[in-house]
Amino acid sequence: MRRMALIVQKYGGSSVADAEKIRNVARRVAETAKGGHRLVVVVSAMGKTTDGLVALAHQITPAPDPREMDMLLATGEPVTIALLAMALHALGFKARSFTGPQINMVTDAAHTKARIRRIGGERGRAALDAGEIVVVAGFQGATEDGEITTLGRGGSDLTAVALAAALDADVCEIYTDVDGVYTADPNVVPDARKLERISYDEMLEMASLGAKVLQSRSVEFAKKYGVPVHVRSSFKADPGTLVTREDSGMEEVVVTSVTHDRNQAKVSIMRVPDRPGVAAQVFAAVADQNIVVDMIVQNISRDGFTDMSFTLPRGDRARAAAVLEEVARRVGAEGVQHNDRVAKISIVGVGMRSHSGVAARMFSTLSREGINIHMISTSEIAVSCVIDDKYGELAVRALHEAFELAGR
Ligand code: ADP
Ligand code: ASP
Ligand code: MG
Repeated sequence: MRRMALIVQKYGGSSVADAEKIRNVARRVAETAKGGHRLVVVVSAMGKTTDGLVALAHQITPAPDPREMDMLLATGEPVTIALLAMALHALGFKARSFTGPQINMVTDAAHTKARIRRIGGERGRAALDAGEIVVVAGFQGATEDGEITTLGRGGSDLTAVALAAALDADVCEIYTDVDGVYTADPNVVPDARKLERISYDEMLEMASLGAKVLQSRSVEFAKKYGVPVHVRSSFKADPGTLVTREDSGMEEVVVTSVTHDRNQAKVSIMRVPDRPGVAAQVFAAVADQNIVVDMIVQNISRDGFTDMSFTLPRGDRARAAAVLEEVARRVGAEGVQHNDRVAKISIVGVGMRSHSGVAARMFSTLSREGINIHMISTSEIAVSCVIDDKYGELAVRALHEAFELAGR
């Protein structure tokens, strides 16, 4: 007898953007259910709903209170779960929708970027046992005290992977508007190539460097619990990309992909007194706001003063600037400057561990295009440069070509 698999599927915003698309998702879900599989379906808010809610909040205030922001953002996904459950009923299937709190997605209280503490899978399991398709609102949860939280932008991916781990699912399928994970964003680089498989480590690096096809925390979670993730198209039946453990069957290339992140801002604190403890004060103030700082550069000091620059998510810049003005005054710095028009461009590949000259090739490619580099950082398997936002797409295309990623 064929074993009944448990499959978690996640459909992103563009895949559920209108009623017709939701009915399309219901038909795809129904196909899998007909195969005799047990199914949990995680969905995002319809289309650009979440962006719209963020914009609405910013029409009220530049630095919205994070708790109230979550209250607002968590209204998006419930619309989709109800409509998808109805669409499944219309096709003759048993289905039941659950919000994040209803499925017991328990998180910490870090509003707008909450971390999952535990998932009480009981309600989901009971519904599955009753033969129902379980439809879950992605992106949202609640604290032990019942405060509504969200899991960071793109967080429906994390909901799906976490549920797959909690329910010990056979696979977590991420359905989206591209056919899989490519060597670069296929919407920017037309000749980008679909990867058949990619390791958790490379995918994690790509995701944290801005390839939004998967949320980085979802990849972290998948790696930790060994959840196989299959990224594929909502609209085509073709196999997509399998994100899995590194193995010898993977392509042996130095650079796997080029990634860009346009959601960054650069902040500089000018003429900071160069003495012990100053950096600690600056970054403690930012960390207290729950803001994650990325690249940090401190210049050589002249006459006892130095400039300090770092990057952070653009959406956090207004809150960071407010506390930094205060810290700058306290430590006797000259002032704070910021630049929202920057992009981070990265090359990623596990082969970099054992190859030299990769960074040099990246810099010479950018210089050939006349692109100035503001900041550089490296990890074991990536090199990143901050450049002017307006050159972002040009840089990605030039690097994709320089590293010969298109036709192999
Ligand atoms: P969803 O709404 O389904 O969650 P997202 O917009 O979050 O979809 O992610 C899919 C998008 O990720 C694609 O439309 C594509 O523009 C972008 N993307 C960026 N880098 C890559 C890449 N390397 N491979 C595939 N897609 C990528
Ligand atoms: N709706 C949320 C967002 O746009 C979560 C998601 O789509 O994954 O960020
Ligand atoms: Mg997404």
